[in-house]
Amino acid sequence: MASVAAWLPFARAAAIGWVPIASNPLPAPPVPKHKRKTDDEKLLINVSGRRFETWRNTLERYPDTLLGSNEREFFFDEDTKEYFFDRDPDIFRHILNYYRTGKLHYPKHECLTSYDEELAFFGIIPDVIGDCCYEDYRDRKRENAERLL
Ligand SMILES: [Zn+2]
Repeated sequence: MASVAAWLPFARAAAIGWVPIASNPLPAPPVPKHKRKTDDEKLLINVSGRRFETWRNTLERYPDTLLGSNEREFFFDEDTKEYFFDRDPDIFRHILNYYRTGKLHYPKHECLTSYDEELAFFGIIPDVIGDCCYEDYRDRKRENAERLL
């Protein structure tokens, strides 16, 4: 039979707010950066002076394209450690978003010919234009074809 004296110190400890260390463990320490290293890396893409940043894995989702393949190494600048493209940065935004979302959008205010040229340069086929933009693209394409007849 346990005596009252045996549990009394615990009752007193509770009264002053003392909490055993074991019930209040420290959070797990963060994993050091060098141990968390994956095979991914951030790439810097300079398009006519406008800088874009993305993950290499993002680009390699589409290995048949210029940015997704080793072809991009032709555009790597050793001095600045970035890829440089002397292309239209406004349209490039849509191209980069394609890698991120899997959807290619057609900016209606852009000239269809210049848009097509940028897609061709980066090795992207217009078939991947999303449903949200495909009709606009197709209509513009038809208009252009009629105008050029
Ligand atoms: Zn769209």
